[in-house]
Amino acid sequence: MSKTEQKIIGHYIDGKIVTGSETRMGEVFNPATGKIQARVPFASADDVRKAIDAAHRAFPSWSSTPSLRRARIMFKFKELLEQNSDVLARAITLEHGKTINDARGEVTRGIEVVEFACGIPHLLKGEFSEQVGSGIDTHSQRQPLGVVAGITPFNFPVMVPLWMIPMALATGNTFVLKPSERDPSASLILADLLAQAGLPAGVFNVVQGDKVAVDTLLEDERVQAVSFVGSTPIAQYIYSTGTARGKRVQALGGAKNHLVVMPDADLDQVADALIGAGFGSAGERCMAISVAVAVGSIGNALVTKLAEKTGTVRINQGLDEQAEMGPLVTRQHFDKVKSYVDLGVQEGAKLVVDGRNFKLSGHEDGFFLGPCLFDNVTASMRIYKEEIFGPVLCVMHVNTFEEALKLVNDHEFGNGVSIFTSDGAAAREFGRRVQVGMIGVNVPIPVPIAYHSFGGWKRSLFGDHHVYGEEGVRFYTRLKTTTTRWPAGIKVAAEFVMPTMK
Ligand code: NAD
Repeated sequence: MSKTEQKIIGHYIDGKIVTGSETRMGEVFNPATGKIQARVPFASADDVRKAIDAAHRAFPSWSSTPSLRRARIMFKFKELLEQNSDVLARAITLEHGKTINDARGEVTRGIEVVEFACGIPHLLKGEFSEQVGSGIDTHSQRQPLGVVAGITPFNFPVMVPLWMIPMALATGNTFVLKPSERDPSASLILADLLAQAGLPAGVFNVVQGDKVAVDTLLEDERVQAVSFVGSTPIAQYIYSTGTARGKRVQALGGAKNHLVVMPDADLDQVADALIGAGFGSAGERCMAISVAVAVGSIGNALVTKLAEKTGTVRINQGLDEQAEMGPLVTRQHFDKVKSYVDLGVQEGAKLVVDGRNFKLSGHEDGFFLGPCLFDNVTASMRIYKEEIFGPVLCVMHVNTFEEALKLVNDHEFGNGVSIFTSDGAAAREFGRRVQVGMIGVNVPIPVPIAYHSFGGWKRSLFGDHHVYGEEGVRFYTRLKTTTTRWPAGIKVAAEFVMPTMK
């Protein structure tokens, strides 16, 4: 396909798809074939400002729309997402590479947040206190912020934007999304479904692009809040730049999630959990398990079992319904993950299963890496300290529960963690003392349901709020409190001392 015949994935500004003024373009690959399948314009600062203009103009009317009417648009949006879930899943698989079943799961987890946002009239109900003083009442309410922005990563092109969009819109804000330039198509499907659901033009906008687009969102005074999900160095940059400019920022970063295997864990159950959570989505999940910590005597049996099961993972292009693992997202990411496997060997870890030479017949140019299993990994190795974000599972051995807990707590990331055990007291103690935001007990990927909230600790999240759930309502609104007196027939004289409620 020549460059001129290639599909162009545009921006969505004020209800229309546009290609913008910028001449810089990104290439969007099909990871299973390694071929470029589309090109995406990178927004200029002017393009981004047009999107902010549209959102700014739409805010007064949208924020004054009764919350029940905003909720009805969310109900319709949810219905349309369900009807189009296969369209969305296919778009994800073709640009991200994950399997179609996994992509369907991603869409479902995103829809759950829309479902939660349908209850927004109830969630926005304020508080009222009668007679706080003689003839005086006080009420508090939450109001939207204005134009808010979302900057999202490649690994969940539907679910992560849906962590933000329904909560921000239902609470009355207008939105500019800057999705990942590596799999941008899904953002335009979401824009189209929102328009079909009845969302007025300008309330939701999409700008494609890179740092130029992100920096323009961070600089513009009209953008009141920024939600970011991506790697830790960029999360920290977004948080420090955005907050220095007076914006509210939640910036979710990278992860290194441990699964602690206690000696009393069910070996088959834990091995299956590790294979699924380590190699599902080719390890490109912020909640993937990348480290198994075997406590005491269970370690060697665990490694034998994992090696057996790793060999049975079905790898194929993602549209194959039987596939369990697809390719990595780009050649560049493939090279990075593979170089970590080389590094692990140099560092002295034992490579029990080596996926580096895996080739899928008929897809030799695809970005496929077979699952890799390391044993005898230690805390000083870079393959332990750094996020690899690929199908690489590390096994570590410790003697006691306390050593396992210390290992997890000493790590710079604190996104998710899991413990597999049949001892309730050990699980409880672990949950209470571990310095991590999301914990699984005999559950390998503890992504909270939409009516709870999602977020890590330490360098996995910068900011005060987790995403979605009631935390999402708080992040996208500010509190206003009114104290009222209707002095019918009562003469109120000037008061010169601090008012106290009499
Ligand atoms: P990334 O940090 O490279 O990109 C995220 C977003 O930031 C993209 O939209 C990208 O265009 C933009 N960006 C990239 N470089 C930038 C720069 N220099 N300045 C401004 N903006 C920039 O992340 P990714 O590779 O797309 O996604 C994978 C990462 O996301 C992993 O680290 C993963 O752990 C993390 N992640 C975290 C969570 C979570 O909830 N904590 C969820 C999903 C993914």
